Amino acid sequence: MVLPLLLLAGVVRAGDLAIVNARIYPSPDAEPITDGTVLVRDGRIVQVGTAVEVPDGAMVIDAGGDTVTAGFWNSHVHPLPLPLREAATRSPAELEFALRQMFARWGFTTVFDIASFPSGNTATLRGRINAGEVAGPSLLTVDMPFFPADGTPSYVKDLLDSMTAPSAEVATADEARERARRQLADGADGVKLFIGAIVDDGTGVRLMDLEIVRAVVEEAHRAGKPAFAHPTTLEGIEIALAGGVDVLAHPTPASGAWSAELARRLVEEGVALTPTLELFEIEVRKENAPEAVVERIAGIAQQQLRVFHEAGGQVLFGTDIGYSDQADTRREFERMAGAGMDWRAILASLTTAPARRFGQDSRKGRIEAGMDADLVVLGSDPADDPQAFSGVRYTVRGGEVIHPAPWHRP
Ligand SMILES: [Zn+2]
Repeated sequence: MVLPLLLLAGVVRAGDLAIVNARIYPSPDAEPITDGTVLVRDGRIVQVGTAVEVPDGAMVIDAGGDTVTAGFWNSHVHPLPLPLREAATRSPAELEFALRQMFARWGFTTVFDIASFPSGNTATLRGRINAGEVAGPSLLTVDMPFFPADGTPSYVKDLLDSMTAPSAEVATADEARERARRQLADGADGVKLFIGAIVDDGTGVRLMDLEIVRAVVEEAHRAGKPAFAHPTTLEGIEIALAGGVDVLAHPTPASGAWSAELARRLVEEGVALTPTLELFEIEVRKENAPEAVVERIAGIAQQQLRVFHEAGGQVLFGTDIGYSDQADTRREFERMAGAGMDWRAILASLTTAPARRFGQDSRKGRIEAGMDADLVVLGSDPADDPQAFSGVRYTVRGGEVIHPAPWHRP
């Protein structure tokens, strides 16, 4: 039975939240705890198990026997749609609503913005969330991406023109290095390179010079931060590998299938992948392509994820939401399962893998005493069907319920 959020009578001690009657998956490879309780105080998990006493006055969420996992990460997002790209001037209610529709509603407690405009906007949004003014996820950002000279992607040109944003193109390694340094010093958590930029001047794909890639990646690594790349073609992947990139932001369905050999090289070089599988269906459908073509292109992306996963590659869940307007994650989970990822592998891509990749695994990714109280309550068991990961009942970030509605403590 599903019970509503229940605020027990008595004095609420700030920080006390208990999720009771839960099937807890502490981590992707742990055995579930049935009929368990997670106790939260001051934003941290303090106790997990079957013999946890719920203090008087705690806020109680009854999971009704359903599943509780660590909060999800979406490692490929863009806070670009209005009102989010006007983070400085929009009201808390407007921003909060948009963040809930894009992220909290789907269980995301940490998201990585891997390209946004104008420069500094995501940091402003993060500041308003962290100050407690707006309920939302923990935000990481690469700030502005790096495009090759004459390589602003056709699909972002109009947006940039409408914002009169400065060019994000870089012509030389020195210029690129200088901007990378500045963005990282200003609080960026990584860098993003459009190694293969899709342009509409008839040439198709503009590739970035390896020298520029190396300069930007070097600055990111010097700061202990990751470098993301948009490869687009097999040549783009080779430049990413030679340049020391950490995460491929997409597979490359236009290039045809990936060989097991290519997957093995990516894994050997420690490159992670955000699959964004549903995105390709959406994009091809936009061109009014016949369903057979949609399925063929989406099938290639799925094959690429399959060989990468089989080779032991680190998969980071990511959807490109904010460029894509598909917030619902159901189809993405179906596609990932279709690529041979079982529910444990998918849970790892949502929790432990990104926490480890981005250096936050001592605080996030697992349900354990001492970890951040980032939690998701699902309506059914993903072990029965991975699409259950999209059926989110409650999202808790740092001990605060941010979905279904922000619940601020008195
Ligand atoms: Zn993207």
